[in-house]
Amino acid sequence: MKIVETPTEAYAHTDHWRREGLRIGLIPTMGALHAGHLSLAERSRQECDITVVTIFVNPTQFGPQEDFGRYPRTLQEDLLQLKQLGVDMVFTPPRERMYPEGFSSSVQPPAIAEPLEGVRRPGHYQGVVTIVLKLFQIVPATIAYFGQKDYQQLAVIRHMANDLNVPIRIEGCETVREPDGLAMSSRNRYLSPEKRHAALGLWKALSHVKAEAANGQTAIATLEKQMETILYDAGVDRIDYARIVDRDSLADLTLLDRPAVALIAAHVGPTRLIDNLVLDD
Ligand code: AMP
Repeated sequence: MKIVETPTEAYAHTDHWRREGLRIGLIPTMGALHAGHLSLAERSRQECDITVVTIFVNPTQFGPQEDFGRYPRTLQEDLLQLKQLGVDMVFTPPRERMYPEGFSSSVQPPAIAEPLEGVRRPGHYQGVVTIVLKLFQIVPATIAYFGQKDYQQLAVIRHMANDLNVPIRIEGCETVREPDGLAMSSRNRYLSPEKRHAALGLWKALSHVKAEAANGQTAIATLEKQMETILYDAGVDRIDYARIVDRDSLADLTLLDRPAVALIAAHVGPTRLIDNLVLDD
């Protein structure tokens, strides 16, 4: 497994593979890898000839009050797991290689970045689309894999790639969960046993509305209220949003009369967690 720290080297390897006609899968991550990340790499291993994982905790997508400083960094363990999986290259640049002195450009995110996370984390998606487009240029892959765990992020990247004619196919992958339903997240390692129990409230609320919807409940306001009640009962400290919106446009709905998705962002202690569930299948 090649471990590469400079954009020039990462591009050179990718360019070489492309010239050989190989299919290249790219999985951008911030490290602290878990089974969710590994499922993306496994899918790439199945569908592509070459699998490239990037590990970079991107400072520009964190707000000033957010957890950039204490975001978990477990590079040696990450590399071991990726090697065992048969990954071909890991690109893990130091900050100054991605944002050298004088760096000043940024990508304007598409409109679908505006609701939900866009309201709660101003500037977040600008940081995300800028780093993702940079990674797409450095590793011009055939397919890039992203998790549906970050539902809005996947939509934002699809729109950006489409708007800017990025010649990489974007694939969304199912959320990997713990046996009790908690979505795997690098931030789960912050949770005490008590807070882990509260965190399960996200999955309880999402599965509840899915069951209610299947039973014929169509009033969005009622379903959203039920999610809030379940979250607070579970011990969540603060809810950023618990919403049901159009599955494709993320537009507000009053009635569940079309494919929709329920999305939650909530704080348990100092940890902010997100999760979602599509309601139409
Ligand atoms: P992150 O390191 O959190 O930036 O995540 C890197 C990629 O892994 C993103 O595309 C995430 O959506 C994806 N991912 C994170 N958690 C999960 C999960 N539980 N299941 C599937 N994909 C995930």
